[in-house]
Amino acid sequence: MDIERLAEGVLAGDRRALARAITLVESGRADHRRAAVDLIGRLNDADHGRQAMRIGLSGTPGVGKSTFIESFGMMLTGADLRVGVLAVDPSSARSGGSILGDKTRMERLSRAPNAFIRPSPSQSHLGGVARRTREAIALLEAAGFDAVLVETVGVGQSETVVAEMTDLFVLLLAPGGGDELQGVKRGIMEMADLLIVNKADGDLAATATRTCSDYAGALRLLRKRPQDPEGFPKALTVSAMEENGLERAWEEMRALADWRRETGHWDARRAEQARYWFEAEVRAGLLARLSREPVKGAMEALARQVEAGTTTPALAAAEVLTDVLGLGPEAGETG
Ligand code: GDP
Repeated sequence: MDIERLAEGVLAGDRRALARAITLVESGRADHRRAAVDLIGRLNDADHGRQAMRIGLSGTPGVGKSTFIESFGMMLTGADLRVGVLAVDPSSARSGGSILGDKTRMERLSRAPNAFIRPSPSQSHLGGVARRTREAIALLEAAGFDAVLVETVGVGQSETVVAEMTDLFVLLLAPGGGDELQGVKRGIMEMADLLIVNKADGDLAATATRTCSDYAGALRLLRKRPQDPEGFPKALTVSAMEENGLERAWEEMRALADWRRETGHWDARRAEQARYWFEAEVRAGLLARLSREPVKGAMEALARQVEAGTTTPALAAAEVLTDVLGLGPEAGETG
């Protein structure tokens, strides 16, 4: 595979090159993985620090995520902005089927020339999906996209994963259920930069407004975060269906992004995220080595000796770490 040509295609914003590059980073084959790492490295050197606004979007099924992404995305492409849509879908990890990022869910946007929608790859674990999504973001940025929306369903660990790879985190909510605040976990609310109450139209309009002020009240009770200007995090209402409030939502996102850029929080956060993913890659790489030869065989042999009592668990573990993996002695062992 000609990685240099592929990199050139991505940098030129060529859609077919981009699609091929994303397929490459999604592949689990060892040679593909090496090529993908090479590709992302080249793009990092060559893209002159192109940045997109990376927007994480979460919400329970039925709240209107795909309707919102379609309307919001159409508004952005209408303003001549290039929009990428990716998904981190924990359900695909379990069932092999994806409920997010499905092209048929965003029919108009999937046909827009300035939009690029990639369904969630089915993967065996969230870690694998996370890496692929993160690398797909890097590809879209290198290709000159202005905004990348990363969608996830509001369950389990997936919000945290998405928040660690995006600049802004948006929580989409339904009208009603304001009393118990729809059982939104406190931790997830604390991650959000914008709470958007959708379906503020027709019979639901009044309820949506009430729900929005309930959330605004709840937000005021949260501890102020250093990365927020006055008034953030913020709650607002939209109707994704009637395409109301979307410009306002975009303005708020831009205002927040501008403030963070000016105050250095933007770059600081990206640096922190890069460190986080570097450390996660090292850990994942180490774990992967343990289940591959020759480490796997060496561990099995040592495990038998531990079972037989001819060596101790601690001695055998030290042998794996120091000799088999070649990591050198632990500080405690030398002292
Ligand atoms: P998702 O599961 O979060 O992606 O939700 P969908 O976008 O598939 O929407 C779920 C349902 O809510 C669909 O029947 C939509 O037509 C409806 N819906 C989405 N947005 C709105 C809205 O702004 N107003 C109203 N009234 N219904 C909406």
